[in-house]
Amino acid sequence: MADIIQLLPDHVANQIAAGEVVQRPASVVKELLENAIDAESTSIKLIVKDAGKTLIQVIDDGKGMSTTDARLSFERHATSKIRSAEDLFSINTKGFRGEALASIAAIAHVELKTKQEQNELGTQIEIEGSDIKSQEVVVTPKGTSVAVKHLFYNIPARRNFLKSDTVELRHIIDEFHRVALAHPDISFMMYHNGSENFNLPKSNYRQRVVNIFGTKTNEKLVPVEEETEVLKISGFVGKPEFSRKTKTEQFFFVNNRFIKSAYLNHAINSAFEGLIKEGSHPSYFLNLTVDPKTIDINIHPTKTEIKFDDEHTLYAILRSSVKHSLGQFNIAPVLDFERDKNLDTPYNFEGKHVSNPTVEVDRSFNPFQEERLSGKSGGFSMPYKKEAAAQWESLYVGLESKGTKTTQEFSEIQVESQHESQSLFNEKHAIESTQTTYQLHNKYIISTIKSGMLIIDQHRAHQRILYESLLKHTMIKEAVSQQLLFPLQLQFSSSEMELLKQLKEDLEHTGFVFSKFEDSEIEITGVPVNVPESEVSIILEQLISDVEQEVPDSNFSSTDLLAKSLSKSLAIKTGHTLTNMEQEHLVNSLFACKEPSVSPTNRTTFITMSVDDFDKKFM
Ligand code: ADP
Ligand code: MG
Repeated sequence: MADIIQLLPDHVANQIAAGEVVQRPASVVKELLENAIDAESTSIKLIVKDAGKTLIQVIDDGKGMSTTDARLSFERHATSKIRSAEDLFSINTKGFRGEALASIAAIAHVELKTKQEQNELGTQIEIEGSDIKSQEVVVTPKGTSVAVKHLFYNIPARRNFLKSDTVELRHIIDEFHRVALAHPDISFMMYHNGSENFNLPKSNYRQRVVNIFGTKTNEKLVPVEEETEVLKISGFVGKPEFSRKTKTEQFFFVNNRFIKSAYLNHAINSAFEGLIKEGSHPSYFLNLTVDPKTIDINIHPTKTEIKFDDEHTLYAILRSSVKHSLGQFNIAPVLDFERDKNLDTPYNFEGKHVSNPTVEVDRSFNPFQEERLSGKSGGFSMPYKKEAAAQWESLYVGLESKGTKTTQEFSEIQVESQHESQSLFNEKHAIESTQTTYQLHNKYIISTIKSGMLIIDQHRAHQRILYESLLKHTMIKEAVSQQLLFPLQLQFSSSEMELLKQLKEDLEHTGFVFSKFEDSEIEITGVPVNVPESEVSIILEQLISDVEQEVPDSNFSSTDLLAKSLSKSLAIKTGHTLTNMEQEHLVNSLFACKEPSVSPTNRTTFITMSVDDFDKKFM
C-alpha cells in the first residue's frame, strides 16, 4: 500500500495556526500592540477602521527590524525573543512563540514598514495570505508600522462569524485598555474611523487609570503597595462605595501581563467583605510582580490564565494588603441604601402610642419649602421637604402639574381595578380625621380605613407608583426632564454599551437626555425630574445589571424592564422617614394605580386588618 502521509504546505499550516491565535480583530490588536511594546517603543498608535474588519494598524517608534528580520518575521516560529528552552523560564517579553505575524499574514493582507534607527532607509513588505507580493526599500521613520487589512478575507466562515462592529470594537478597546494599563510609561493613542478614541500620554499609574476611566475615577482610588520576598503589589482598589454592579473595572497584571484569576479575585472580594453590598463588585487595578521562574505563562496564546507556584501565599498577601489599605485610608462601611432599619428607629414603638409632633416642627424649618411652593405655577401645593422627597415624589410631578386632581385623573384611566381602588379610597375618605397615616419602623405606613386598618410596605408601594408612572411616560413619550448644569460623562464597557443602546430610546422617554452615546462613553445633559445627578450612574448600573440578569440574550421588553429597574432604584427605601404629608401622598398615589396590590415584581404592597380580625385576637 502506498504511503499516504504528507507534510502540509506552509500556508495551510499557517492558516490552521492562525485559527488559534486570531479569533477576532481584537486578537490582532493584542499581538501587534505587544510586539510594539517588546520593541521598546515609547509611543504607540493604534488605528482601526470598521471595528478592525477593514483595517488594524499599529505604528510604533521602537527598534525596528533589519531587512532580513523583516522578511523572517513572517515565518512561523521565527522570534528574536527566546533562543533556547531555558529562556522559557525567564520570559520578560510579551511574545516568544514567533507565531503571531505568520498567522496574521496567512489570513489577511499585511503591509509592514520598518526601519532601524542607524539606517537611512527602511523596508516595506506586502503579504497576502502568506504570499509575499512585494518588498521594497522605503523612506520611513524609525520604528515599525504593521497594517492588517481585510482580516479573514480568505476564510469567509470566520468573517461571517464576527459580531457587530460595536461588539468587535469593544473587544478591541478592552485589549487596548489592558495593554495601556500595563504600560503607563508608554504613550498610547487610538483612532477609530478617523476619530480619536484615546490619547494617553506617558504618565504615572494613577493618571493612566484616570485617563482611561475618566476624571471621576480619581477620587475613588485607594493605593495598595506591598513588597515581600515573593511578591510585590502596587496599584489601586476602588473605595467600597464606588463598587459596581459589573466586573468591568477589575484588572490584574502579573509582570505587566493582563491575567484573569478567579482565585486572586476571590482574595480581593474577601478583603472587601462587609464593606460592599452583595452583588456589587470592587474595582481594582493591581500589578503583581513575581519572579518569572515561579509562574507558568507558557500556555495557550490567547488565554489569560496563569499558573503560580504558590497561590496560597499570594492569596494571603494580596488579601491582607488590600485590607490594610482600606483600613489605612479610613474606608468605613457605606451602606446607606439598605441600612438596618433599627438604626433609624429612634425608640421602640412597640406598645406605645404613635404620634408625630416632631414632624410638624421639622416642616416649618424646611428651607426649601418656599422656593418649592413659589416655583409651582398651578395648584400643586404639597409642601414636601425637598431633601426627603426629592428622589422620588417628583417623578410624577409631571402628571400632577396639570392640576391637583391626580386621583381623579388616574381613576378615569384605570378601568380594570376601579372597583377595588374606589372602594378602598372611599373607605379611607370616609374617615376624615386630622391624621390618618402613621409610619411604623420607617418601613410600613399604617392607614385607618372604615373596616379597620391598612398596612403598606412603603418601598414596594412606591415602586408600584413609580413603575406605572414610568410606563405611562414611556408609552406616551412625554418625558419631564431637568437640565443638568454640567453634562455628566459616564464610561461603560462594550457589553454595557450594547445594552444601553437598546434602552436608549426608552430612557429618553423617561426624561434622560443624551448628548453623546458612542464608543464607551455616554454624556447626559438631562435627567428625569429630580433624579439626583449623583445617583444617575448607580441607577444606570443597576439597570444594566438587572437587564443582564434577566435576559442573557437580546430580545426583551426593554420598556418594562427599564420601568422595573428604575422604579426599584428610585423608590424610597425601607428606613426612610416620611412626613405625614408624604405618607398620605404615597397612600393616595398607590390607590390611584392600576394594580395597587402588588409591586412591579409581584410582591404584596399592602395588607388589611379588619376590626373583626382584631376582635378575634382580643377574645
Ligand atoms: P513573537 O512576538 O512571539 O516573537 P511575532 O510573530 O509576534 O512573534 O513576531 C516575530 C518577530 O518579529 C519578533 O520576535 C520580533 O523580532 C519581530 N517584530 C515583530 N513586530 C515588531 C515590531 N513592532 N518592532 C520590532 N520587531 C518586531
Ligand atoms: Mg508577538
